[in-house]
Amino acid sequence: MPSLTENLEAVRERIASAAQRAGRKHGDVELVAVSKTYPVEMIREAAEAGQELFGESRIQEALIKIPSLPSRLRWHFIGHLQSNKVRKVLPYFELIHGVDSSSLARDIDRIGGEMGIFPRVLLEVNVSGEGSKHGFAPEALERELEGLLAMPRLQVEGFMTMAPLAAEAEASRPYFAALRELRDRLSTATGIPLSTLSMGMSGDYEVAVEEGATLVRVGSAIFGNR
Ligand SMILES: *Cc1c(COP(=O)(O)O)cnc(C)c1O
Repeated sequence: MPSLTENLEAVRERIASAAQRAGRKHGDVELVAVSKTYPVEMIREAAEAGQELFGESRIQEALIKIPSLPSRLRWHFIGHLQSNKVRKVLPYFELIHGVDSSSLARDIDRIGGEMGIFPRVLLEVNVSGEGSKHGFAPEALERELEGLLAMPRLQVEGFMTMAPLAAEAEASRPYFAALRELRDRLSTATGIPLSTLSMGMSGDYEVAVEEGATLVRVGSAIFGNR
């Protein structure tokens, strides 16, 4: 079995190759090592192999793990966030990936004001329209985006999506391409860069990089099966 360090190296190489195939610089893509469910020892091992950015999706688990790890590590919250957890989450995470409604965005904005910070967020978009998925429908996003961008504290840096579960990575391509095209259109319409695209997981991150991802969220390809 390859070691965690070897897995990490392999993922980094695949990201670099995918970026090169798409004519992008590999520095344009950052790897979020998704460490949910994995123990702090494994996170420490990844950190020793040079990985500094990690993603967690379960608040209780994350708030136990993060304080016991080196403070130089950076954390992204990638899970479904409930309004009553915002105050707990904001101090630990530099970016919230899954803001999926205007009401959650308003709560983050308000609490950011109370805490004296400017929370950085990505808006989750349900590109596939699957009922089981969180996120703004593309049409709702087009309607609500101006209001979201006008919030005084909220820093909307771009979008996040999840492709439907599929055996083939190629099946994700149309969804990733659609998110990039939506972003391009909304960026032009609003004059705001919206430059961050969080898309791609262990099964489809190379396709995501080819389609413009700037953040890929990769867990099991690094840490092993959960
Ligand atoms: C768990 C998770 C991932 C990583 O999934 P892997 O298949 O293990 O790479 C990515 N994004 C989100 C939102 C997740 O919950």
